[in-house]
Amino acid sequence: MATVAFIGLGNMGGPMASNLLRAGHKVIVFDLVAAACEALAQAGAEVAESALQAASAVDYVISMLPAGKHVAGLYLGEQGLLQHLSKGSTVLDCSTIDAATAREVGAAAAALGIGFMDAPVSGGVAAAAAGTLAFMCGGEAEVFPKAQAILADMGKNIFHAGSAGAGQVAKACNNMLLAIHMLGTCEALEMGSRNGLDPKVLSEIMQASSGRNWSLELYNPYPGVMETAPASNNYKPGFMVDLMVKDLGLAQEVAEQGKFNNRLGKLAEELFREHQAAGNGQLDFSSILQKLKA
Ligand code: NAD
Repeated sequence: MATVAFIGLGNMGGPMASNLLRAGHKVIVFDLVAAACEALAQAGAEVAESALQAASAVDYVISMLPAGKHVAGLYLGEQGLLQHLSKGSTVLDCSTIDAATAREVGAAAAALGIGFMDAPVSGGVAAAAAGTLAFMCGGEAEVFPKAQAILADMGKNIFHAGSAGAGQVAKACNNMLLAIHMLGTCEALEMGSRNGLDPKVLSEIMQASSGRNWSLELYNPYPGVMETAPASNNYKPGFMVDLMVKDLGLAQEVAEQGKFNNRLGKLAEELFREHQAAGNGQLDFSSILQKLKA
């Protein structure tokens, strides 16, 4: 069993850290919000007074923070964790952040002899709780087995996408595609509905045809078609519009870094940003159907 420092115990990090405890690891936690630490203490974690204290003698540091600036702040600089970790420890940043920051942290870790992988996840809060997340890892091949060994206690599909930053690139590609096929699914269902088709019947037809996709099959955006989907529960998230807008912004950066004109991705970002600006940021992202209907 490993000793793990877990930094960032929000909607995702909390249940992920709980799964590590359940698997028998020693987990030392830190979050800026004391209540988040307290919940993990109840589950058996040791609570540290700072990230530095949490990471003072561990095999792994795992972070699950909001954005690149938080990750850079945690790891880089004189006060950053990297300067204080023992050689041979492994850092796994599971946050969804810009690939450039992941590469910067990866390079700084490598220079200090510390293993690093960016390991953003696919799957939301429910998958975090169930331990069924997918991890997309970027970093040196020799670090991957160490990453796999611990990530397997929080997820079921663990991929090595390439060098540092590659996990973030894979995540940006995936979520851009998710936004696009959700928009396409909404548009097809609305067009059918405006021409007199029952969205439930049309969904069944397209699921058995070449329009089949994840949004249609598992996350149907039309209220009433799928009882368990956010659409049938007033678009309670699920995966919030705010987070999709963040991810589409990251996808734009990845497109620019690759000198690629991602026209559909840009259009998706524009539509989701407008939907967010209209006050829908906290709704599930499948609520974009309501914008297309208007
Ligand atoms: P969250 O806001 O619920 O949690 C973030 C936590 O980090 C908070 O508890 C905050 O107090 C803590 N934090 C921030 N800065 C810190 C610091 N310097 N030291 C210690 N703690 C600090 O966010 P979340 O929903 O858990 O998402 C975390 C990451 O996972 C994000 O990058 C998000 O894009 C990604 N993600 C989220 C989902 C989802 O469905 N929520 C799905 C996939 C990926």
